[in-house]
Amino acid sequence: MSERPGHSYKCATAVRSLEKGALRHLLCRRFIAMLTALERQASISSQTRQSLSECHDCGLIQRLPRADEQASVLVCQRCGATLRQVRASSLALCTICATSGLVLFVLALSLPAVSVWMQGGRYGRSDLLTGPARLRQSGFWELGLATLATLIVLPLLKLVTVLTMAICVRAGRVPRVLKACFAALPTLTEWAMVDVFLLGAMIALFRLKVWMVVSFGPALFALGGSALCSIAVDAALDRFVFWRLVPLRAPVPEAEPSLPAQTSSPATWFGCSGCGRVARLPEGAECRRCECRVHARKPNMMQRTTALIAAAALLAIPANLLPVMSITKLGRGGPSTILGGTVELAQAGLWGLAGLVLVASVCVPVFKLGALSYLLLSIRRGSRAGLLFRTRLYRVVALIGRWSMIDIFATMMLVALARFGWLGSVRPGLGATAFCGVVALTMWASKSFDPRLIWDAAGLNPPLESTAEPLNPGGEAGDTDAPRWVTA
Ligand SMILES: [Zn+2]
Ligand SMILES: [Zn+2]
Repeated sequence: MSERPGHSYKCATAVRSLEKGALRHLLCRRFIAMLTALERQASISSQTRQSLSECHDCGLIQRLPRADEQASVLVCQRCGATLRQVRASSLALCTICATSGLVLFVLALSLPAVSVWMQGGRYGRSDLLTGPARLRQSGFWELGLATLATLIVLPLLKLVTVLTMAICVRAGRVPRVLKACFAALPTLTEWAMVDVFLLGAMIALFRLKVWMVVSFGPALFALGGSALCSIAVDAALDRFVFWRLVPLRAPVPEAEPSLPAQTSSPATWFGCSGCGRVARLPEGAECRRCECRVHARKPNMMQRTTALIAAAALLAIPANLLPVMSITKLGRGGPSTILGGTVELAQAGLWGLAGLVLVASVCVPVFKLGALSYLLLSIRRGSRAGLLFRTRLYRVVALIGRWSMIDIFATMMLVALARFGWLGSVRPGLGATAFCGVVALTMWASKSFDPRLIWDAAGLNPPLESTAEPLNPGGEAGDTDAPRWVTA
């Protein structure tokens, strides 16, 4: 019997389609298995990345251990820096404290701060805006601007930023400008100087009390309350909680034209200086959470910090030689320098205040310039000695710099209040402008300094161009390299 050609063709087609089906089935199963594995791997990788943190002081990228219910502060095991401070109900507490601080600040702006009387019933009154306005009228607009920014604009901006961020993260939508302000919150806190102003105002009022009758106005108390609220915000703020609620932006493709040219560098591991997110990115790329540009280290740190220190050291000469103010009492008196003002306080029996002004205006700037120069030199020499000491020294420098502004605020209060002609008046001097410049430059220098280079120069961090995943095994029981929880 002859086989029909049509039947044979149909059989071959059926076999082929069966084979195809089986192959497709096999391929599908393999593909699904591969996808599942990838998904699992991605999930593990994302969990790992979320629990990574870079120490801002020594540059060690480390895996965070599980939260400890007894402890509230996570510190770097290598240098002791605080990696995270856990605060219960951070969002609610920050909202309450920032709102109270803002209400008190608005009250302080609208109420009188200080009143003074002189012989013959002469009367003077000052609110918070009087000082900057009087400095501008006296031809010292740069001092007026500096005091207006550090006393009013930046403290208000800090409270508004925290309050709006607490509201926006709950709503799940955070504008880019708010992210930038929140990322800059540590800088805002450093430059918002209500607490320094209050101390400066106290010094000025004690000086005035020697020759005038001084009464404190309600604005000073409201401002004190606002400063306390601002400190409470710092204590209640858990930045990790805020940033975790900010949705991540979609990943930017490699060939995205908006990226700067230098992003052609290989992707390495970075801890974002804005939000702390650790991710593998090219240098200068945009962080997916806070939208700041990320850099492995602060760009041109050595050159910039050296230039700022040199400028501050040069400006310190006129700041100490030129008069910071001219005081006239009953037709007598004249210009006085920073040291002259200290001697005057001591002669009036105010030894405590004299010591405070001497430390804040003379010792602190000299100490800052010396310490930063020493740190830069030690990095340049690649020193491996005293790593912990040098890191702690930097923390002290960053902490104390702002208190040098005491004398500028004291001068501002004296200028604002003592305006009774030959009976008693105070005029600012060029030394005050130079001194304000020294304080600003030294603060800027300590901000531009990157302490991670201390550890880089000693060869204790992997090369910055390394693309390998940081394998610090932190978080395992008994691991001595893991960050540890401590009770605050
Ligand atoms: Zn560290
Ligand atoms: Zn970021």
